[in-house]
Amino acid sequence: MTSAATSAPASGSALNTSRSQELFNAAQSLMPGGVSSPVRAFKSVGGQPIVFDRVKGSYAWDVDGNRYIDYIGSWGPAICGHAHPEVIAALHEALDKGTSFGAPCALENTLAEMVIAAVPSVEMVRFVNSGTEACMSVLRLMRAFTGREKIIKFEGCYHGHADMFLVKAGSGVATLGLPDSPGVPRSTAASTLTAPYNDLEAVKQLFAENPGEIAGLILEPVVGNAGFITPEPGFLEGIRELTKENGALLVFDEVMTGFRISYGGAQAKFGVTPDLTTMGKVIGGGLPVGAYGGRADIMSMVAPAGPMYQAGTLSGNPLAMTAGIKTLQLLQQPGTYERLEVITKRLVAGILDAARSAGLPICGGSISAMFGFFLCDGPVRNFEDAKAADTVRFGKLHRAMLERGVYLAPSAFEAGFTSLAHSDADIDATIAAFRECFAAVA
Ligand SMILES: *Cc1c(COP(=O)(O)O)cnc(C)c1O
Repeated sequence: MTSAATSAPASGSALNTSRSQELFNAAQSLMPGGVSSPVRAFKSVGGQPIVFDRVKGSYAWDVDGNRYIDYIGSWGPAICGHAHPEVIAALHEALDKGTSFGAPCALENTLAEMVIAAVPSVEMVRFVNSGTEACMSVLRLMRAFTGREKIIKFEGCYHGHADMFLVKAGSGVATLGLPDSPGVPRSTAASTLTAPYNDLEAVKQLFAENPGEIAGLILEPVVGNAGFITPEPGFLEGIRELTKENGALLVFDEVMTGFRISYGGAQAKFGVTPDLTTMGKVIGGGLPVGAYGGRADIMSMVAPAGPMYQAGTLSGNPLAMTAGIKTLQLLQQPGTYERLEVITKRLVAGILDAARSAGLPICGGSISAMFGFFLCDGPVRNFEDAKAADTVRFGKLHRAMLERGVYLAPSAFEAGFTSLAHSDADIDATIAAFRECFAAVA
């Protein structure tokens, strides 16, 4: 793609990450754990995190000059590839007009129209600054609209770090082995009911045990925060029925799946329409954006149209809106999702074959530009099943892949992401690296 001046380290060579190590060591006394978000630490895979210097297309370069093929894509936003030239050019233009208005801007209308046109459940939308903010706001809205307090979430699903959701919350929390977080009031956690993913009976039972008390149910329609887990046929439909029958709202948390599983998200892909949807990651095109939206009668409760308060100093700022609009425009080009589907399928087939050739148990899959694998026989239907995966071997695999210039999420319980910038050659190189690494850790 860009400068070929630095390339992936020669296969099998030890990686020189001395500058990364210096910076990370210095960061220890500056920021808790040396990071701004725990998922970036390498706690569960061992070793020290790599400090990045720059990203472009499918690649990341660290501060020691090593290049990696990146399968995290900033944890989701980089679906067009990092620093896409058209996004960067649009941002340059927007920058000259100022970074934040604190007043309405026309770009908000444009992105809102695009989101409403794309996502089946969304008739009105409110922009915020992160997925966490979107989820905590939608929770207040569920309660405001129904006048009920309890919610249902699934074990292993992550909906940001607000108190109510830090109950069996998946990847980041699971990786650190924190059951729940201290600081979350017992009373708050008590109104969050949990069920295993893909288990309709458990949900039915929760509704039966709490009649008239459940405001709504929130889920990742395709799980990415307990590793990659897909809904079984009938599961999403069943949840839709059960929430309707019980007067509860259904929320799809599409912060990860929105504009990734398909342009209209998982709800368009599976043909199940929730009442409300949360978004983030891709719609910000690499800048901090979140959004929640849904039925107009529910969204009309949000201030200043209605009494449910929610606000934001930097919400809808012109830079973030610009990056989002340009990213969605790029995704609208014909063939986008077909391309993502093809390369990601090929990647996963290569990974599964490489592991099996080395005699290792593995299961995995992909939808569009989201994929994952577990080092166990499977099938993995929920977080409990996922825990059977060999996390020690995953740690070794992760390190070995880094040494071959491939950057995977530093946890066995995260989904992986491809982008339009991943070339056929990138996929081939990645599969070849997996072959060597599975053999090495077998
Ligand atoms: C990433 C994520 C969030 C939180 O978004 P942030 O922008 O990190 O606050 C919420 N829900 C899901 C499904 C996510 O993947």
